[in-house]
Amino acid sequence: MISEEEACAKILKTIRPLPPRRLSILEALDCFAAEDYFARLPLPNFDNSAMDGYAVVASSCTPGKGLRVVGEQPAGLDQQLCVSAGEAVRIFTGAPMPAGADAIVMQEDVTREGGEIVVNVEVDPGEFVRRRGCDLGAGQKVLARGERIRAAATALLVSQGFNEVVVGGEVSAAIISTGDELVRPGEKLQPGQIYESNSMLLQGLLHNCGVAVRLMEHCRDDEELLTKALKRSIEHRVVIISGGVSVGERDIVKSALQSLGAKIDIWRVAIKPGKPFLFGRVDECSVFGLPGNPVSTFVTFLQFVRPAILKMMGAADVDLPKVSAKLLVDLTNDSDRGHYIRGKFEGGIFTPVGRQESHALFGLSQSNALLRLGVGESHKRGAIVNVQVWD
Ligand code: AMP
Ligand code: MG
Repeated sequence: MISEEEACAKILKTIRPLPPRRLSILEALDCFAAEDYFARLPLPNFDNSAMDGYAVVASSCTPGKGLRVVGEQPAGLDQQLCVSAGEAVRIFTGAPMPAGADAIVMQEDVTREGGEIVVNVEVDPGEFVRRRGCDLGAGQKVLARGERIRAAATALLVSQGFNEVVVGGEVSAAIISTGDELVRPGEKLQPGQIYESNSMLLQGLLHNCGVAVRLMEHCRDDEELLTKALKRSIEHRVVIISGGVSVGERDIVKSALQSLGAKIDIWRVAIKPGKPFLFGRVDECSVFGLPGNPVSTFVTFLQFVRPAILKMMGAADVDLPKVSAKLLVDLTNDSDRGHYIRGKFEGGIFTPVGRQESHALFGLSQSNALLRLGVGESHKRGAIVNVQVWD
């Protein structure tokens, strides 16, 4: 049995980022940038009005005094208008500032009388003017290599005239569930049988990582059948096998992998739940064997599979976000492994939820955070702890 840290380090050492690809900006949403991107244009790209109103020379405005309206500048093509003292140009939000104007008076603050306006307020220079480059200067970094491309970043790239972006490679995955007791969702349960739910869990988790699941199979606890299923799966970058990695006679994953010539790098990690976790490789394919209890599957996915996948996709940061939280109860870890407590993080407070056993799927479904307690670690109610948040 190796430590979690060793297991993580070993996995990440063997994983290489996949070759980058060029995508349209929309396709790149939620991918990781494979290059640094720099602003081509300042934002805004020209001085413009922040309001519907009148462009004026601030020093020529006195409350109650009239100004002559000399033109109209809508948003769009620059009319090349000029404003002098005692004049105003009708202007709309986003329209380029006329030459000579140094402020905008909101239309709510003037009274229009034919070809004139009367300004009803004091006007300061610069008021309601959006200056060129005040948001972003040309040449400034807008997206860093390894950064996830979020919706706002896609808009920023478009605002800079980009229409494509180079992102990390696509990860294709196969899921194989194992177990004689398992029945496909929707089929009739016989006594002693349960529904096969881990494939659904894994599909959801993979989807959240942006992975395309290309193959899903269920396999009885039969080494020959599993070997055949594995042969079909290993053309994908990642294979996740659920169940069958423990030490019972029906735990056939390890020997099936060995019969295919897999290199087993890790088997059994000091993590609770999830001790029988396995990691191996067949050619270019990384194989993760996750213990079948749903919470074990979930925890080992987040701790070992997710970072590996994110590294393949070119992510700079592969860790789950951590936040500090106040603990609502006393907690102690008496086991010989790091224990991941499932709970709810809300309003700065972490509350363990449901039964803390590896089969307890309901508690997991009510949780959004994990608290890792190291061996012998103990916290009193009210202590400030770090929790990993996945939702
Ligand atoms: P295993 O890791 O194969 O020893 O399975 C451990 C426990 O998890 C057993 O109670 C299994 O019935 C359960 N289990 C295994 N695979 C699944 C699955 N795909 N869906 C739901 N439960 C499972
Ligand atoms: Mg099994």
